Amino acid sequence: MRTATERVTMQQSDDVAARTDARQALVPADARAVLTINLAALRANWATLNRKSGAAECAGVIKADAYGLGLDEIGTALRDEGCKTFFVATLAEARRLRGIDPSIVIYVLDGLLPGAAPHYAGYDLRPCLGSLDEIAEWTAYGRMKGAKLPAAVHVDTGINRLGLPAADVERLAAAPDLLADFSCSLVMSHLACADEAAHKMNLAQRTLFDVLRAKLPPAPASLANSAGTFLGPDFQYDLVRPGIALFGGRAFVGEANPMQWVVELRARILQVRDVPEGDTVGYGASYRCDRPTKVATIACGYADGFLRAISRVDRTAGAVGFIGPHAVPVIGRVSMDLITLDVTGVPPTLARRGAWVEVLGSRTTIDDLTDRAGTIGYELLTRLGRRVHRVYVDED
Ligand SMILES: *Cc1c(COP(=O)(O)O)cnc(C)c1O
Repeated sequence: MRTATERVTMQQSDDVAARTDARQALVPADARAVLTINLAALRANWATLNRKSGAAECAGVIKADAYGLGLDEIGTALRDEGCKTFFVATLAEARRLRGIDPSIVIYVLDGLLPGAAPHYAGYDLRPCLGSLDEIAEWTAYGRMKGAKLPAAVHVDTGINRLGLPAADVERLAAAPDLLADFSCSLVMSHLACADEAAHKMNLAQRTLFDVLRAKLPPAPASLANSAGTFLGPDFQYDLVRPGIALFGGRAFVGEANPMQWVVELRARILQVRDVPEGDTVGYGASYRCDRPTKVATIACGYADGFLRAISRVDRTAGAVGFIGPHAVPVIGRVSMDLITLDVTGVPPTLARRGAWVEVLGSRTTIDDLTDRAGTIGYELLTRLGRRVHRVYVDED
């Protein structure tokens, strides 16, 4: 799975060259592609969201191995910054997270898997209970143990995936024995369209959330993901649940992204070649050179998470990588292990075998890439880096 990970703490420094050298020292000679994850930027993003959410608590959503960036490293860094409540998707993720800290609060978004209550309670995990069956099972387990076990009640306000529908909230409200025997530590719901600030679903969901909450005993409330947090105080309630914004991804459309960039992906040049005018590059012969072209082939492909849909097969502007200050466009199809780039005009001292090309970072963002590929930053992030060397840095 993951290769060795290291960490380096950089002095506060503007010295980009020294920084690059120090980073380089962390990369073993056999690494073909490197994903650099900046924990200082991650912590700064959490602090920004924490400020943005005013009196509400700012949790961290770190499901899917912290959006692909490493549950242990990301969880530890957020905990160190002051984050006390975490959400993960699965029981396995939750147990791993519990391993890094015995005292943080951990919610499991999957809810309660049938028969698995002891596995949650044994690790002090809180399921997000999304049906009357789950609530009955959690309550029964608590009764047997003689404890009021904490859990979230997840109500559905229109996304129709998980959570109690309104009619079941009524039934729950009419069943005080069910409510009496567990400790409801959070009432939560999830927005379907928060990334579009003006979408009418946002207000409709918030209104229904208030109606449903009012039927249940008082408990802290939570509605907002990253985008919801930016919708303002009306959506923040007692606790906000940002995920993607922590990692620098775009939470909402139409405005500049206020978050710092956390990830950078670089790959080595394996070969540079001269391709004559009229020749094609890559599978499908889908890109034809309209002039003599210097082509660099780099050690990164869709098996590394660089989506094949990012391929450039025609004359439209494609994705760009960077060699130092030089922009180098992707040409041809992205293949499993390789990407081809047009490096014509880049000095040969830079565009040479073994040199590094930045394919993702502050200049070509995850959202730039996925806008091109017809998908979203979340998908690219969660697929990155299963085969690449990961380096954790701590740079201001
Ligand atoms: C994934 C998820 C979040 C975080 O969403 P982002 O858009 O990444 O901020 C919050 N709440 C729930 C229920 C989720 O599933």
